[in-house]
Amino acid sequence: MNRLRYRQVFLFLVVLVLPTAAIIIQSRYNASRERENDAQARELARRELADLRRRRATEIGQDIVTRLERIKLQEIARAPSGAATAATASSDSAVAFVGWEGREGLIWPWNVAHSHNGGASREESEFTRKRQAGERAELAEQNYSRAAAFYREALGNARTDAERASASLPLANVLARAGAQAEAARVYRGLLKLPSSVTDDQGLSFASYAALRLSESHAAEALARVNLDLESAALLSPAQAYRWRSVLESMERSGDAAVRLAAAGASARLAKRIADVEDALQVQQHFRDLRVTADSWQPYAGRDRWWIGKAPTGAASRPLVLAVRVEEILRSVETERQARHEPSFQLVTDGVSGESLGEHLPGMRVALGPEITKAVAAPGAGRSFYGLSLFLVVTLTFVGAFFLWRDTRRESRLAELRSQFVSSVSHELKTPLTSIRMFAESLQMDDESGTGDPKERAEYLETIVCESERLTRLLNNVLDFSRIERGQKNYHLQSEELPGVVDAAVRTMRFPLAEQGFDLRVDICDDLPSLRLDRDAIEQAILNLLNNAMKYSGKSREIGLRLSRRNGSALIQVADQGIGIPAGEQRRIFDKFYRVPSKENNAISGTGLGLALVAHIADAHGGTVEVESAPGKGSTFSIALPLPREPAPDGGAAV
Ligand code: ADP
Repeated sequence: MNRLRYRQVFLFLVVLVLPTAAIIIQSRYNASRERENDAQARELARRELADLRRRRATEIGQDIVTRLERIKLQEIARAPSGAATAATASSDSAVAFVGWEGREGLIWPWNVAHSHNGGASREESEFTRKRQAGERAELAEQNYSRAAAFYREALGNARTDAERASASLPLANVLARAGAQAEAARVYRGLLKLPSSVTDDQGLSFASYAALRLSESHAAEALARVNLDLESAALLSPAQAYRWRSVLESMERSGDAAVRLAAAGASARLAKRIADVEDALQVQQHFRDLRVTADSWQPYAGRDRWWIGKAPTGAASRPLVLAVRVEEILRSVETERQARHEPSFQLVTDGVSGESLGEHLPGMRVALGPEITKAVAAPGAGRSFYGLSLFLVVTLTFVGAFFLWRDTRRESRLAELRSQFVSSVSHELKTPLTSIRMFAESLQMDDESGTGDPKERAEYLETIVCESERLTRLLNNVLDFSRIERGQKNYHLQSEELPGVVDAAVRTMRFPLAEQGFDLRVDICDDLPSLRLDRDAIEQAILNLLNNAMKYSGKSREIGLRLSRRNGSALIQVADQGIGIPAGEQRRIFDKFYRVPSKENNAISGTGLGLALVAHIADAHGGTVEVESAPGKGSTFSIALPLPREPAPDGGAAV
């Protein structure tokens, strides 16, 4: 038996545990390999992404530089000699200012001397003389009408707009002082019409002088003149910008609400131009530190955020210096790139994050939009599926193994029971055969010797008959059991009187019971209807119960047999006062081959088939068999057979 168990354990190990362990080890190994591969793939993807970002940033840098170079060429073409033409604004709105690099540093257009205007540096002329005479009369003599006359003469000699303006302005001033307000206003209004390029030697337009004088009396006209300047793209010099500011400030103090409102609107626009101008002054101040070269653009962190670049020396006599608006450049590059479905980007200013834009835009970095990550596939999916299938395989294997193990255990138990059965059947056969043989031999000897008591002879014969009946019962049990196993057991039901059947069983057992000194108390209720039953089978069941009562009575010698009626059933009860059955075993004793595994029980021979047959017979008659028992107190087995509901006159019974 032990060998079989070892074999089972060994097979279990070989067939189940080892392969499962192998699968688990292999899959763990695979999983770790896969993790390594994943990590490598991720690292690769990370590098690829970094590379892609760098490439894209360089592309963006190139796009920006291309745009900037276009602007540069455009500006060089506009001012080929580096002349003061730059004073007119660039047609490209991205250009904030254009200046030149001189020996002293950066020169903005307004820094150029206004020698061409009506300044004092001009050589003596009739115009100059008359104007100077006017100034003397005005300032030294304070004779305003005389001064006005000289200024008028100067005006008559003026050849250019600037000369005319430089005579008109003092003329209007002295007229106003002399009290000729209406005439003064007329002259001022004439000045208001002059273009902004007509300036005095401080770079201030004559129109703005007139606007200042007219800001109260002719506010609407003066304001229109300011707006004209603010709307034009032409450059404002710092002086001019501040001049316009004071004109607007005085209008904002006006008593006329409409004038105040309009002036406030213009002030807001002017503020932006002033911010540009102030940035330009800052750039000028720090120009040397910016270290602008011909092939790089430097950021200038002013309010509008400009990049400062320079045309190569030689392209113009004095290299052009450009200040371009970063925001506009980026917007136009971004639009171009979006049209080509390139990823979006943003300038970053912390100087650490993002990607460099390349050598032409030193220190400038961009952050690329998240869509770039889509270009690189992320690895590492499907491992959870792998783990799940491993879990399923292992679980199914173990569930299968459990059922297999349970079946084998059952089989081996059955095999054990069968071998026990064979030995107990042989043992059971041996006892009656021995007595039959012994008594037959005694009879034979008596015959030979001619002696022998006839009473003794009759007793011997009775024993032989009784033992052979016992043999028959045993063999019947075995044969019936094998029929049941093969499904060939048939019961022949016919109408019978149950008391008669019980009586027959009692008669059969009378001799063996008496032989062993048993006292059988029989109590048969005769008031029972006929039943449809297999007479032999019911008798066999009662005999099995009586036989067990004898076997398991221990020292007790009292057995009771009762036939009664209870709850519509005929009840056959066999009671003993023997060894009893523990409660836990009472259900299993009706299983085939099952014997209560106690020391007391082992000493009594048996096959474990008797009760299984009783249960089968009761079942075939639509009845039940039950046991009531307590160890040491005895057992009562009851077969209940259902009675027909209404006793029929012909004795037919329903089963
Ligand atoms: P067998 O008597 O040949 O072993 P049975 O099927 O008739 O087989 O009985 C099964 C088991 O039930 C017995 O081995 C015994 O342990 C127990 N048993 C049956 N009848 C009695 C009884 N009257 N008193 C005590 N135990 C009993």
